[in-house]
Amino acid sequence: MLNIKYELAKELKAKPVKGQPLGFGKITTDHMFIMNYTEGKGWHDPRIVPYQNISLAPTAMVFHYGQTMFEGLKAYRSEGGEVRLFRPDMNAKRANVSNKRLCIPEIPEEDFVQAVKELVKVEKDWIPTEPGTSLYIRPFVIATDEFLGVAPSKTYLFMVILSPSGAYYASGLAPVGIWIEDDYVRAVRGGMGFAKTGGNYAASLAGQVKAHDDGYSQVLWLDGVERKYIEEVGAMNIFFVIDGKVVTPMLNGSILPGITRDSVINLCKSWGLTVEERRISVDELIEAQKSGRMTECFGTGTAAVISPVGKLRYKDDVMTIADGGIGEISQKIYDTVTGIQTGKAADPFGWSVVL
Ligand SMILES: *Cc1c(COP(=O)(O)O)cnc(C)c1O
Repeated sequence: MLNIKYELAKELKAKPVKGQPLGFGKITTDHMFIMNYTEGKGWHDPRIVPYQNISLAPTAMVFHYGQTMFEGLKAYRSEGGEVRLFRPDMNAKRANVSNKRLCIPEIPEEDFVQAVKELVKVEKDWIPTEPGTSLYIRPFVIATDEFLGVAPSKTYLFMVILSPSGAYYASGLAPVGIWIEDDYVRAVRGGMGFAKTGGNYAASLAGQVKAHDDGYSQVLWLDGVERKYIEEVGAMNIFFVIDGKVVTPMLNGSILPGITRDSVINLCKSWGLTVEERRISVDELIEAQKSGRMTECFGTGTAAVISPVGKLRYKDDVMTIADGGIGEISQKIYDTVTGIQTGKAADPFGWSVVL
């Protein structure tokens, strides 16, 4: 248990007014959580303080060698007014998987969850209420040693910040076009693709820009060795429905193990669907699309829950998935997961945590 000190803001910021577009990640709340790590002392001085800039030396290691970890989850307001988190224990676990890979000291899972819960409690009036909106939660760690040598830092900051976010879909699920990148790669086996760490996203930007310039909203990455097998989308895992089976790339070390991915696999299995986690080659996809055996394709992630894919582009091949619309399984998953998150649907797995 953390003994969190509270220094509450004397003046509160104006909250967004009803109907104001929130966008994503632009608005911050009144407070943030912060805790220090010092070698020999461990994590110490957990506190909730007014949201503010932090001061770091230009030599702070995070600026140079990217020793950092982040997480992403959301708080939802249910119709009855209570506040809910979705599987926050999974974020705490994954944070430590990332921490380990980055040589960052682990944060006790219960402390991670406590920090998130306590901050959201303080800021609960910032949780937007309109359908599809939520309070985005961004926990992260940075290396702060003032040192230009390449080595694990001996000091760190763990912070949690919050941002009210708008509905990902303004008017219902909308299919997106995805660019299968055949030149740049995001991660390789043995690298850090399975960790949520800044460097993976820096590596992804050039491909993302290329896809955007061509009118596609996201990149689908291929494996870093043969550029032959499907990995994942920018910040989403990817699923296909082929011959009525739900198929997704297996976790091979270069793919981020999404919590939405895990939830979708569990839900589909509970509905009696066959789920296969395995290697999927881009050739298999092209063949399945051409022969009409691929009936759905969708991305999964905290931001959108489900992002139906209407179009996949690989080199000169532009594949339309089924009729380019939203598949039956995609829609059912979306309705069920968002229902569980907001307390509207039955929660047989006990995923939704009331604050
Ligand atoms: C965060 C993330 C995901 C999705 O994970 P969720 O836990 O479902 O939000 C997938 N891929 C990448 C690269 C990510 O950063």
